[in-house]
Amino acid sequence: MSERLAHALVKGIDDYITEDTEEARLAAAEPLHVIEGPLMDGMNIVGDLFGSGKMFLPQVVKSARVMKRAVAHLLPFIEKGKIGTARTNGRMVIATVKGDVHDIGKNIVGVVLQCNNFEVIDLGVMVPYDKILETARREEVDFIGLSGLITPSLDEMVNISREMQRQGFTIPLLIGGATTSPTHTSVKIAPHYKSPVIYVKDASRAVGVCQALITASQREAFVTQNDVDHDRRREQHAGKKVKSPELTILQARANRRRIDWAAPAPFAPLSPGVHCFDHYPLSDLVASIDWMPFFNAWEFSGKFPALLTDPVVGEAASSLYADAREMLKRIIAERWLRVRAVVGLFPANAVGDDVEIYTDERRDTLATTLCFLRQQKSKAPGLPHECLADYIAPKQSAVPDYMGAFAVTAGIGIEEHIARFERAHDDYSSIILKALADRLAEACAERFHQRVRRELWGYAPEEALTNEQLVREEYRGIRPAPGYPACPDHTEKAKLWSLLDVDNNAGIRLTESFAMYPTAAVSGWYFAHPQAHYFGVGKIDRDQVADYAQRTGMTLSEAERWLAPNLGYEPAP
Ligand code: SAH
Repeated sequence: MSERLAHALVKGIDDYITEDTEEARLAAAEPLHVIEGPLMDGMNIVGDLFGSGKMFLPQVVKSARVMKRAVAHLLPFIEKGKIGTARTNGRMVIATVKGDVHDIGKNIVGVVLQCNNFEVIDLGVMVPYDKILETARREEVDFIGLSGLITPSLDEMVNISREMQRQGFTIPLLIGGATTSPTHTSVKIAPHYKSPVIYVKDASRAVGVCQALITASQREAFVTQNDVDHDRRREQHAGKKVKSPELTILQARANRRRIDWAAPAPFAPLSPGVHCFDHYPLSDLVASIDWMPFFNAWEFSGKFPALLTDPVVGEAASSLYADAREMLKRIIAERWLRVRAVVGLFPANAVGDDVEIYTDERRDTLATTLCFLRQQKSKAPGLPHECLADYIAPKQSAVPDYMGAFAVTAGIGIEEHIARFERAHDDYSSIILKALADRLAEACAERFHQRVRRELWGYAPEEALTNEQLVREEYRGIRPAPGYPACPDHTEKAKLWSLLDVDNNAGIRLTESFAMYPTAAVSGWYFAHPQAHYFGVGKIDRDQVADYAQRTGMTLSEAERWLAPNLGYEPAP
């Protein structure tokens, strides 16, 4: 019997798990023994196989589903007082910080830790720091784990570390998520908190880190090494700072990209103005899905579709892919997700590093003024200091030019399905659904960009690219997203939102950190000039930040806060 349970766990098969668990319960002296015996033994095998690279994340999450269903079956039979007595490795509270909405990585970390006998209290997304700290205190947890995907979350993590020190916490603080980094953790977060602050690169590392921290014989060496790493990164960072921005903003502007606006003249959109799409057919998006990021979310690397036949990960990746395609069919057939999009194309001209967007072709009424940033790092001779405004004809040229904006979501309606999976203890399906919704939102952004080029703006009516070519962005024009390297200020999204009335026209709202909700959403600007391309603004100097603050109407310290990742200098406290 115990072998059957272990097998079901390791293989992630839950077809007979209730029956098998029931049989084990009847055979056991106490229901709790089934958890502490065969189920935990099975999960230990899973943990070992995962630790040694013989199992992969989707398989582990599938095993966890079997475990959770078995435990759910047993719980009603276990006396109340005993539930909390099952041995655990340690207890962690985990949360996506205030203003941020992304949780796929955090959820995977939670599941993987649970598989390794850690108890995880998951507070979800957009969690204010006081709730995290209160819970940590009340539940006497052993670690706090913070996750964030967008850059403003970095600041929030700094606040939380400061607050933990102020409130006298001593438990380790774990930092993870796409926007976080070893350097930021060492330089900005760790100095505020005297107890261990550990950067956790991915879900696979989380178990090792927690295990080391909870094991008396390993903890000291681990923490010492972690401190050494912090010191080294701080020194490296301090060394680098000397050679940050070498040009003044005026020098950088003098070396702007010069486009010949005389010929050919910018293409006027065939359908200017704002266009809304609701209940856009999901079936029209499937062919535009870029699958690789779906596998990246599950910590597979490599190339799609080659990874499906990879000798090491091929089997796990193919099985995940089959489950995802199956769910995708149901999402479409049963209309789980509602797609909304809003696209706008407007007359526009550049004024310095700003772009004025006009309500109509008379160009005398401003819809909004976008503020862009310019590279200030030293560059090889002949290379311009890029700024997105350079891709739009300057007002003084009197050349009529145009710019576009868009916001799309594929996440409306997702909640009820997530809730359904959660009720069924099915993290595996819940994570697949979230990752698919993200993919559909990106596919929607790709598909609408294509329709804009071919139809709405219409500057590339004959364009015929394969999905591979679309993924490689082999088309004319770009769609940079506020918060990304070419336009790193998230607050500019507020202008996009009012320009397109995104709240009402696409049902997407912004959090206080300018994250989009529903999470499966994409927004950005359209630039059509053939020379337009993506770049990173990189580190900028105080002169540009002061100028930017003035242009945007922020105070210097507000601008420094929002541009924190790009500051090439230490702002005054
Ligand atoms: N096919 C991918 C597309 C997302 S990543 C997917 O399905 O996930 C590429 C997008 O990120 C671009 O379309 C653009 O919106 C944004 N992006 C990438 N590099 C950027 C940069 N340097 N500045 C601004 N936006 C950028």
